[in-house]
Amino acid sequence: MISVFSKIIRGELPCKKVLENEHVIAFHDIHPVAPVHILIVTKKEIDSLNSIEDEDLFLLGEIAKAAKKIAKDLKLDNYRLLTNVGALSGQTVYHLHFHLISGRRLGPMA
Ligand code: 5GP
Repeated sequence: MISVFSKIIRGELPCKKVLENEHVIAFHDIHPVAPVHILIVTKKEIDSLNSIEDEDLFLLGEIAKAAKKIAKDLKLDNYRLLTNVGALSGQTVYHLHFHLISGRRLGPMA
């Protein structure tokens, strides 16, 4: 089934975009948990970090590069970058993405 993020990538759903290139797109989360809550999403449909193939591991570097650029553009010295894998971790959209969260003091991880 096509994910909500694929619909955003195809332009079928709106988003507040902050970055886009050949490999990734980044946009504001619709339900932010902090003043800055951006999703960095692979354009390739990959369910989660658990199902990434070796040939696609470079995409993790692309995500890191995107996070670094967004942090620079938004002047963020402190942020958290995380991905959820599986329902028990909180994953709700099965299309590889990382959350970039910032703008307030962040508590312990879990
Ligand atoms: P997950 O729970 O899979 O780690 O993260 C999915 C995230 O996607 C959630 O934080 C949720 O708020 C966000 N989200 C779900 N649907 C949409 C949407 O249509 N637009 C945007 N911008 N974010 C969405």
